[in-house]
Amino acid sequence: MHQEMIDINLDKCVGCNRCIRECPLEEVNYVCLDALSSKVHLDSEKCIHCGSCLKVCYHASRIFRDDTEAVLQHIRSGEKFTVLAAPALRTNFADNWPRILAAFRQLGADGIRSMPCQVAQRTDAQ
Ligand code: SF4
Ligand code: SF4
Repeated sequence: MHQEMIDINLDKCVGCNRCIRECPLEEVNYVCLDALSSKVHLDSEKCIHCGSCLKVCYHASRIFRDDTEAVLQHIRSGEKFTVLAAPALRTNFADNWPRILAAFRQLGADGIRSMPCQVAQRTDAQ
């Protein structure tokens, strides 16, 4: 099941544009105006999930969807899974990354793949 990491509740958006100012990419956020309001939408195909807009949206219009619990449930169910390891794993856990991957194997991982840098940047940025 695909789930966007950054979701929007447009009912809470007040059109303050802080998310637009904070976003490192120009083309991700776009404003929709009507007679009564200004709402900022998000193009999830272009979003790199850096999380910057979450920090400045004081109206809870931007929401982080955390699927950690769903992943843990899947692992607990005993089904096989594949680990996509970001390149940063080795630098962030310089001493322990082999043990981390070994632990995933023990939990049922039937494959461990190195994630391409471009994909890793999208997910590490959160
Ligand atoms: S920061 Fe939040 S409330 Fe302000 S425009 Fe962006 S989504 Fe809307
Ligand atoms: S998560 Fe980052 S890239 Fe995506 S809309 Fe927010 S600030 Fe922009």
